[in-house]
Amino acid sequence: MHEMGIANSILEAVRTEAQRFPHGHICKVGVRIGELAGVDPDSMSFCFGALVCDSDLAPLAIEIEYCARRHRCRACQTIFPAPMEGARCPACGGTDSEFAAGDELELSYLEVEDGTSAAGA
Ligand SMILES: [Zn+2]
Repeated sequence: MHEMGIANSILEAVRTEAQRFPHGHICKVGVRIGELAGVDPDSMSFCFGALVCDSDLAPLAIEIEYCARRHRCRACQTIFPAPMEGARCPACGGTDSEFAAGDELELSYLEVEDGTSAAGA
């Protein structure tokens, strides 16, 4: 399953980001996955957990935000969830829309625990 490779890339990205927080520990990472990214969120979360527990970044939780495919209406510019081509715009009822989003595969946020408060303890 290719989720393992993707989970690994995410872990690498977190590792790079972690250098910005030399005194903190990244405890949670948010990942945005679009419907069209071809990634199964459950496998992804499983693979990530398996990689993390063997790494120096543990403990590290992952939260996956699954984003539905969205289209932009060419008539009124409304962006709306579109399960298929030709979905109807909820604002004006038009069916002429273009692909707007839904293939995301990116870090959305990092939650960092500040380690400095525990210094000397
Ligand atoms: Zn519209």
